[in-house]
Amino acid sequence: MARTGRPARTKQDWARILEGVRGTITYQASLQDYTSFRIGGPADALVEPVDVEDLCRVVAQARAERIPVFVVGGTNVLVRDGGIRGIVVSLRQLKTIRQEPGHVLYADGGVGMPTLIGYAIRRSLSGLEWGAGIPGTVAGCVVMNAGTRLGEMKDSVKAVRMVDPRGRVVDIPAADIPFSYRKAHLPRGIVAGVWLQLRPGAHDQIERTVKDYLQYRKDTQPLTWPSAGCVFKNPPQDSAGRLVDAAGLKGARVGDAQVSDKHANFMVNLGQARAADVLALIRKVRAAVKKQSGVTLELELKVVGQA
Ligand SMILES: Cc1cc2nc3c(=O)[nH]c(=O)nc-3n(C[C@H](O)[C@H](O)[C@H](O)COP(=O)(O)OP(=O)(O)OC[C@H]3O[C@@H](n4cnc5c(N)ncnc54)[C@H](O)[C@@H]3O)c2cc1C
Repeated sequence: MARTGRPARTKQDWARILEGVRGTITYQASLQDYTSFRIGGPADALVEPVDVEDLCRVVAQARAERIPVFVVGGTNVLVRDGGIRGIVVSLRQLKTIRQEPGHVLYADGGVGMPTLIGYAIRRSLSGLEWGAGIPGTVAGCVVMNAGTRLGEMKDSVKAVRMVDPRGRVVDIPAADIPFSYRKAHLPRGIVAGVWLQLRPGAHDQIERTVKDYLQYRKDTQPLTWPSAGCVFKNPPQDSAGRLVDAAGLKGARVGDAQVSDKHANFMVNLGQARAADVLALIRKVRAAVKKQSGVTLELELKVVGQA
């Protein structure tokens, strides 16, 4: 029996539920392989649709069976050790990019930010340099309104293509999307593609800005260890990393989860960390920061799945 009390779905059930889906389907898929933290239990069914139409089919058929669908780009999530019940969608196979008139790029949701930035550099299009080194998908970066001190996703988004909970495609202009710190206030659904308004720039200048920023990240972030980027949001007018450092927690450890000694707002997986270790470390850091500075740190990391 599944923990909900409902009998666990059989392969035959899944074959019926996902009938006609053309993308890759993996049952009991380890989400460690889909997260930059390399942590997390399995997904009941991990689906990688081949195009937007295929994604619509997955969403509509999941809804008909009341099965939850979670999308994973994988670079700002912590999947609990029990994994995710239902369908997990990865947009890895949605990776078209095209240039449209007026210095606009359209990117499928599964395109990685590094790929997109490389594409913009080759066409001497400026506007995404701030995102150099962010490993997420372009869709995840819209949802999170990803950003750095140089800029944010909202600065370039022209419109977003979504698949709504009924499996229909809806295009939403940026003017209808309120963005805030690390959040786009989108209707429910899945971001399937994004139009980005860029501007013509000098190729060498764009490339230099990107290279300099990548070097800055290399110098200041623990990029050789699996992580999920920043764990906590920066409180207004302050830095979460500074507060964690001030609380004396650089290098603090629970199991194989460690507060990076290079950047105190990163937690790294030293090898065999479990989600339970990361969550215990988060509790420890929050308590120490609260005690030391009175600030309650809010999570930027999305914690999902079952314990
Ligand atoms: C080394 C490193 C450096 C990083 N640096 C930065 C940085 O400088 N700035 C920054 O902002 N972030 C940074 N990040 C975090 C991360 O890359 C961003 O938050 C990114 O936007 C997450 O994208 P993702 O595709 O991995 O989404 P995920 O982390 O998988 O998902 C984040 C949330 O968005 C939802 N989501 C994802 N895709 C979709 C979709 N298609 N439709 C609907 N919902 C979706 C998920 O369900 C989840 O709730 C860093 C991460 C790492 C590992």
